[in-house]
Order: sequence, then structure tokens, then C-alpha cells
Amino acid sequence: MSFADIRKRVEEISRLMNLGEKEVNILLNFRRIARKELEIGGKRYLAFRALHNDALGPGKGGIRFHPNVSEDEVKSLAFWMSIKNSLMGLPFGGAKGGIKVNPKELTENEIEELSRAYIREFHEILGENKDIPAPDVYTNPKIMGYMLDEFEKIKGFHEPAMITGKPIALGGIKLREDSTSRGGFIILKEFLNLVNKDKSELKIGIQGFGNVGFNIAKMLYEDGFKIICVSDSKGGILDERGLNIFEVRKVKEETGSVVNYKGERITNKELLEYEVDLLILAAMENQITNENAGEVKAKYILELANGPITSEADKILNKKGATIIPDILANSGGVVASYFEWVQNKCGNIFEDEYLEKRFEKKMKEAFKKVYEFSQEERLNMRIGAYIIAIKRILEAERARGTI
Ligand code: NAD
Repeated sequence: MSFADIRKRVEEISRLMNLGEKEVNILLNFRRIARKELEIGGKRYLAFRALHNDALGPGKGGIRFHPNVSEDEVKSLAFWMSIKNSLMGLPFGGAKGGIKVNPKELTENEIEELSRAYIREFHEILGENKDIPAPDVYTNPKIMGYMLDEFEKIKGFHEPAMITGKPIALGGIKLREDSTSRGGFIILKEFLNLVNKDKSELKIGIQGFGNVGFNIAKMLYEDGFKIICVSDSKGGILDERGLNIFEVRKVKEETGSVVNYKGERITNKELLEYEVDLLILAAMENQITNENAGEVKAKYILELANGPITSEADKILNKKGATIIPDILANSGGVVASYFEWVQNKCGNIFEDEYLEKRFEKKMKEAFKKVYEFSQEERLNMRIGAYIIAIKRILEAERARGTI
């Protein structure tokens, strides 16, 4: 979703909340947008780090390596991080970064070089109390490890809390590995309980089969849900009887894509429009637009990707009666686990996995309940309800600082 689209959404919600001009401006302004060129092997790559609002605490948000990275995209993603961190009650503001690159065209050494170059350019604006990155699309714990190492070499001291989603050997936590999907899974089950839907009544389609898409597919499959179609950037596969997710994963690992799995092939467009009850969006933004929203059949949509539905499409789907569990709630498990990692690194304590898992589950359930109940009471959809809860908390912090 473009930042212009976000602006429209914020303005609409601000009208609902009766916000003044100053408050709207606070929500739409950025503290900082840094833009650099990274040079490795004679080639130049554009790189960004945006800090949206930091009234609640240091910036927090991932770094993405993708050919579509742009200043506009990074701004939208940083804005959503402010909203998400606020919604989840975390002491973080919103930030995001990215490099415009296709990492599939780089060698492992070049990826390491690029990761280190990113830190050399941006280290002054990063830090455990300033702005804390994490993995996002096509970045992973290994890359976070290179980035932490480069940061600490430059600074001359250890600061593991400056980045989350690190390898466990460097202070990462086990929970972070699949936390985005785990959070989505917990919320989905809470939701299905409330609407009295049994797993036997659901046919599921999942777009995206990376970290988030595969992990939620695995959790659902192991729990006895029926997933009939999945896809990645090369296309999708369909089996009405239900896919064996581990076999699909094996084929993807061996051949690079799910499309080589036995059975019927479908396109990504077909997957989005297929007769499923629950559609899980776990790939990229802007997948459901005003062009295909009318064709979407799913009654329930779980947004694990950031911004997979444009605001126009959102309106069409709501009118059709689809229930959308919005990204800022559904995929917030990643940043909640990152928060635990940051706390552990900052205080030097080592928390037990079981303790973190329990706290995590509680936090996800509470957030879902709050959004669901507020939305029901106010007769709003969950996206608008979640935005209002989050915006109130940011503005409260701004008021407490005397900014408003
Ligand atoms: P990933 O790189 O591991 O996986 C992305 C997947 O999407 C891959 O399977 C890729 O093939 C597929 N894909 C790309 N373009 C596609 C297309 N047009 N159609 C279908 N599939 C396509 O990334 P990820 O970490 O799984 O992130 C996926 C989404 O979840 C992103 O929107 C990301 O911002 C969001 N998210 C991730 C996290 C996290 O912790 N990783 C946290 C919050 C939100």
C-alpha cells in the first residue's frame, strides 16, 4: 500500500476519532527518513531506514532485501510498525529499513558484504535505545548476525539488543524463529472459537510459502486443519483432499518452488480467487486490489503479510461480508517475540523457553480479545478497531510528552 493510501486511511480514522489537525500531522509525519547508496563489487544499491513515530520508545522494525524496496514502501511499513507496536502495548516506536536488491542474484559472500555495508552507513541512527532492526522479507537470523557483528566492531562494545531475530548463539531466542506464524495461529484459533467454526468446516488457501507462510501451514497441518492450496512467487498448487505440508516443503527445498509438487497447478491469481473458507495472505503487500477483490470467495482472511489488501479492496471485501483479521494484529507475534529478545539482551537475564511461550500466548490472546470486543462494541471492523486502539496510545504518549 502506498503512503498516499495510508494517508487516506489515517484521515478517515481521524475523522471517526474527531482528531485535530495537530494530532493528524503527528500521525503522518516521520522523525527521520535516511537514504544511502551501498557499494559492493562495483555495483550500487539503494538503501533506506525510516523512523516514523518514537513517542512510545525506540524505533523497531525489520530490514527487507527486495527489488521493489522504495522510500514509499519503507515509509508505509514503518508507519504500520508504529501502529502495531502501540496496539501490542510494547515500548517501541515504528521503523523499517530495506535494500533495493534481488538477493537471489547474489552470492552468500555478497549478501554478507551488503549486510555489513548497510550497518556501516546507518550505524549512527541504530542502537538498542534508538532504533532496533529485525528480519523481514528475504532477510534472516544469519543476516542479523552479520549486522550485529559489524555494529559491535564499529562501536567497540557489545550491544546485542540493537537487533532482534539474531542467531541464538548471539543472544537470539528460540521463540522468535516462528513467532509471527505462531501469533497468527493463536489469534486464528481464538477467532474460530468465537465464531463457532470447527476446523473440519474449513478449507484453507495460503499465499506465500516462506518463513511466515510455511510455518503457519505447518502449525495448521499438525493441528488437523485442511490446507488445499499454497503458493510462492512462481505459482501455486491445489489438492481438494488437502496437501501434505511437509511433502510440499521438501519439494520446495529440493526444487526451489512449491509448483513442482505433484498435483494440480494454479496461478497466484487463481489461488486468491479460489473457493476457500479461509485465505491466509503470507507473501507481499497489494495482493488483493480493487481488480480482484470482487472475485475473492473466502469468508475469513488472515493477513500475515504486511498490507496485502489495498484500502479500496478492503472496502469491497467488507461490503461482501468477509471478516479480515488485520495485519497489525495478526502478524504482531514477530515483534512481540522480538520485544522479549530485546528485554533479555538488555537485562542480561536468560529466560526459559516455557516462560516466554506462556507470556507470548497470553499477550496474543489479550490483544485479540481487546480488538475483537472493541470492534464489536463500536460496530467497526477489526482493522479500524485496532487502528483506533493503537492511535489512542501513541497520542497519549505524545500528550504526556507535552507535544500536543
Ligand atoms: P519470506 O521471504 O520468507 O517469504 C516470502 C514468500 O512469499 C516466499 O515464499 C515467496 O516465494 C513468496 N512470494 C513472493 N512474492 C509472491 C507473490 N507475488 N505471490 C505469491 N507468493 C509470493 O518472507 P516472510 O518473512 O515469510 O514474510 C512474508 C510477509 O510477512 C511479508 O509481508 C512480511 O513483511 C510479513 N511479516 C514477516 C514477519 C517475519 O517475522 N518474518 C513479521 C511480520 C510480517
